[in-house]
Amino acid sequence: MPHPAIDYPAFGPEIRCPHCRHTIPALFLTDTYLCPRHGAFEVSTTGELIHVVSGRCWHQWEGIWYRQHIHVDGLRFEIGEALDQLSRQSRRATQITIAQRYQTLFEGRLGRELPSLKRLYLLGHKLFGIPVVFSPTPQVAPRWMSVNFEFTTVADTAAQLSYPRFRTR
Ligand SMILES: [Zn+2]
Repeated sequence: MPHPAIDYPAFGPEIRCPHCRHTIPALFLTDTYLCPRHGAFEVSTTGELIHVVSGRCWHQWEGIWYRQHIHVDGLRFEIGEALDQLSRQSRRATQITIAQRYQTLFEGRLGRELPSLKRLYLLGHKLFGIPVVFSPTPQVAPRWMSVNFEFTTVADTAAQLSYPRFRTR
């Protein structure tokens, strides 16, 4: 039986480094994990994992680390990479669901720097040409406390059937 009061360190004796995914140990009797390549990671009082040098922050959900973004560009970059991966798996995203906690960041940034785009986004949010919706609150679906985004996808073959002119034969 885990005993919360003496359950030390917070994520167990070892974790996977969020950067290189190697298994890294906790320093004895501390909430600090040490990666030989990436340095120290500390557990915050709210249960986040903080990279001491950069201040980058991760939440864990079902054993996976989710980087928490403070700039919309970081989130867009991560979504762009995931879309690339998706296309390598012969799938295509038809919708992006972004965690509701990013909604202000997303719209605030567009409002400040690109007012004309904001108007466009208000008509229908899109990112990389794909419709965007925001997630339910974590009270409704707890994973959205940690997860950044999810895709609704279809197989690429289905996409080809919808657009026969792109078929190669
Ligand atoms: Zn590492």
